[in-house]
Amino acid sequence: MNNLDSLLSEAIRLFNGIDDAVELEQAKACYLGRNGRLTELLKGLGRLSPEDRPAMGSRINQAKETLEATLKLRRDAIQEKKMEAQLIGEALDVTLPGRGLGMGGLHPVTLTLERIQLLFHSIGFAVASGPEIETDFYNFTALNIPENHPARAMHDTFYVDDGCHGNNGHEHLLRTHTSPVQIRYMQSNQPPLKVIAPGRVYRCDSDLTHTPMFHQVEGLWVDENVNFAALKGVLADFMQHFFERDDLPVRFRASFFPFTEPSAEMDIGCVMCRSGCRVCSYTGWLEVLGCGMVHPNVFKHVGIDSEKYIGFAFGMGVERLAMLRYGVNDLRLFFENDLRFLKQFN
Ligand SMILES: [Zn+2]
Repeated sequence: MNNLDSLLSEAIRLFNGIDDAVELEQAKACYLGRNGRLTELLKGLGRLSPEDRPAMGSRINQAKETLEATLKLRRDAIQEKKMEAQLIGEALDVTLPGRGLGMGGLHPVTLTLERIQLLFHSIGFAVASGPEIETDFYNFTALNIPENHPARAMHDTFYVDDGCHGNNGHEHLLRTHTSPVQIRYMQSNQPPLKVIAPGRVYRCDSDLTHTPMFHQVEGLWVDENVNFAALKGVLADFMQHFFERDDLPVRFRASFFPFTEPSAEMDIGCVMCRSGCRVCSYTGWLEVLGCGMVHPNVFKHVGIDSEKYIGFAFGMGVERLAMLRYGVNDLRLFFENDLRFLKQFN
């Protein structure tokens, strides 16, 4: 019987001295495993006399329960210690400075577009938009550019291959200007109209000063009594505000566009120099937009009475204005997405 007592105290001492979960389970096996020492004692019960068997059996079972209880306490203690160590190891230092969030910024072309819209909005122009995939009718025919007109060849158009080529002008293309928006706007709104159409346009052209995608803003003012003087006033005023130069000289040169008559190109005094530079080809003048009085044939396509109404239209390249305003000398910089370049505008 003393055997059992000393076995029990020996096991309890052993278990309580162990700090590792795996080691504890191994120690348990030595006493309570299939060939463990306590298990062996149980097996030996059969050799005892029938009178002694019940008492001894219950003592061994008690010892077994005591050992199990000791093991459980020890397991819990080991687990708790482990968790404590883990918490200390993974502690957060809430006093460390944050990593910081990068501030986003607007692209210079977007900034320029917003500036143009703001200035025209301030004199009562609405903003309209339209699809970038257009039909031949909206991009050309409705703008007085009939089939086989040389102006179509000038536009280097991207056609969308939808199997509709030559199908009464219903073939699709990427719009070469935002003028189709003006047609759509005139179809769904009655004069008087004052609207600008900003957006992406596409031409099959790529070199130092051209990219296959660029941005345009076109404008339209239709009313009973607008005239060329109003056109000049609106555009000169816009350029002076855009470049923040009250003394900015402007001039209009006669030109040709199928959708306006008469038509003109507008120049502004070079904003880069005082006496001639490479940007203005040493002329002191910069070409900035095309404009003119809306051609009666355009009004005819949208059902506006050209005997009653008159209008003017204009169109400008946004990248060109952005380059001049920010002094950027290479168009491609706008599309390379180099953060060193883009961050300078924010
Ligand atoms: Zn110049």
